Amino acid sequence: MDDELPRAPHSIAEFVRGYEEGQTLRAFRCPRCDLKTATWGLACPRCGTVGLEETTLPPSGTVAAFTVLAVPGDEFVNDAPYAYVVVDMDGGGRITGWMPSIRSDADLAVGDRVRFSPSYKPGVQFVRDPAPRPEA
Ligand SMILES: [Zn+2]
Repeated sequence: MDDELPRAPHSIAEFVRGYEEGQTLRAFRCPRCDLKTATWGLACPRCGTVGLEETTLPPSGTVAAFTVLAVPGDEFVNDAPYAYVVVDMDGGGRITGWMPSIRSDADLAVGDRVRFSPSYKPGVQFVRDPAPRPEA
C-alpha cells in the first residue's frame, strides 16, 4: 500500500504570493483532461487526476458571471460594495476573483474585459482591461 501523500510543485503560500506580486497568474493544468485552474490544489477538480502540472495564464479575460457584494467578510470590509467575478481567461480556464470599485450591477456586464492586478488583498483581484480582445 502506498501511504505517500501527493506532492505539489509549490506551496499554497507561494501561490498566494503570486497573486500579490505576479504579472502572470500561476495556475495548474490537468494532464488528463486539460482543465486549467488558478485555484491551488493537489488533484483535478473535474476528473480527480493527481499530479497537476504548473502553468501560467495570461492576465486578461472576459467576465462570465458576477455578483455585487454589499456585506463582505472582514478582509474586504473597507472595499464594499465590490464585485465577486467569474472570469474566462484568454489562455483557457475559468477562475474566480474580485473587483474593487464595482458599486452596482450597472457598473459591470457579462462579457466585459478584465485583467489580473496584483494585490495584497486575499484572492485574485481584477481590474478593467482597456485592451481589445485578442483575435481567437
Ligand atoms: Zn482533469
